[in-house]
Amino acid sequence: MAKHRIAVIDGDGIGPEVVAEVMRVLEAVAGPAGFEYETTFFPWGCRYYVEHGHTMPADGIEILSRYDAIFLGAVGDPRIAPEEVTGVGPVLAIRFGFDQYANIRPVKPLPGAPYPLARPTPDEIDFTVVREATEGIYVGLGGRFAPDDPQVAEIAAMRKIFGRSKELALQTGVYSEAGCRRVIERAFRLAEERDGKRLVTSATKANAMKHGMALWNDVFADVASKHPDVRSEWNNIDALSMRFVLKPESLDVVVAPNLFGDILTDLSAALLGGLGFAPSANLTDSHFPSMFEPCHGSAPDIAGKGIANPTAALLTLAMMLEHLGEDVAARAVEDGVREVVARGAVRTPDMGGSASTEDMGQAVAEAAVRLVECA
Ligand code: NAD
Ligand code: MN
Repeated sequence: MAKHRIAVIDGDGIGPEVVAEVMRVLEAVAGPAGFEYETTFFPWGCRYYVEHGHTMPADGIEILSRYDAIFLGAVGDPRIAPEEVTGVGPVLAIRFGFDQYANIRPVKPLPGAPYPLARPTPDEIDFTVVREATEGIYVGLGGRFAPDDPQVAEIAAMRKIFGRSKELALQTGVYSEAGCRRVIERAFRLAEERDGKRLVTSATKANAMKHGMALWNDVFADVASKHPDVRSEWNNIDALSMRFVLKPESLDVVVAPNLFGDILTDLSAALLGGLGFAPSANLTDSHFPSMFEPCHGSAPDIAGKGIANPTAALLTLAMMLEHLGEDVAARAVEDGVREVVARGAVRTPDMGGSASTEDMGQAVAEAAVRLVECA
């Protein structure tokens, strides 16, 4: 019997609330689906920061490397720690540390979830965003400089307003040929596996970002030429964001650099009914663990009330189970979530209901167990 070792970082705010329901459903399906698992909780994030001055221990990455997968709730709490230090500290450290370059964010609306568009119908939408997650503007390079700092002399002279500012900040993006290639390649492979429209759309902006996005475009064209069975196209990010609202049914696989993908996937979460419905996986090719986390943050505005929607976290659990090779359990959890949302008897406030996070988790656990048993 397979035994999976799962590291759990439940984090801050609603993180622990939704993770509790993930644990409930995992425990419920494991036996019937015939696998064993072991979880270890790591109390990292803002609460840890308040005590220790950092969001995770120095050997945190090494500790996590011994697990088969990482499940993360959400970290960040601007009320107790400064956002630039703690906001996504461990998340980025783990993505970078384990080379989790492919952030996979499926967009397949659930019937019964709040749906914002007049058209198309929710069942016409089924696409996945593959967001590059280790490069681009999130690498953290740059700094804040006085305009007379010799390091920025040339830049300060570029525009009058730069020279007479009190301060200049540089935020440098890094785009590597190999880094672009592996994520774009993965998007094409996904388009082949999905057997949907077999279309890959590249989110870009080479007209304004003429170094990084030009490299991205060159690599995209090269990878596309090696996959003649998949159609390809590019869209500038501004036009593409409009298309996410006006013609989302025209998409199949979208591949995007880090920042564009981050923003696009909160937009696509709106198509799903809100952040409470948007799952994600951070995949690596290395022997290190991949990480599974809902797209949402710690939602301080609703934390502690027991009303967070655990759907995103539960769909993320389904993605983790699939990754671990537990296809029966994965399908049962995903279908269980879909069944509960479609039935509509248990709805959290973001769905217009008054059910609690726990009510929702319990309903999904029951549905998933039944689905495993008839699989
Ligand atoms: P957020 O995702 O936490 O919340 C945005 C809005 O969506 C809020 O109104 C919130 O109530 C709602 N929402 C989010 N998840 C929900 C759920 N499961 N059910 C119902 N409603 C939900 O984003 P934010 O407010 O920009 O960030 C809050 C904190 O989370 C910040 O510290 C931020 O840095 C952090 N953050 C962490 C991650 C992560 O851990 N990967 C991701 C994004 C933001
Ligand atoms: Mn985000």
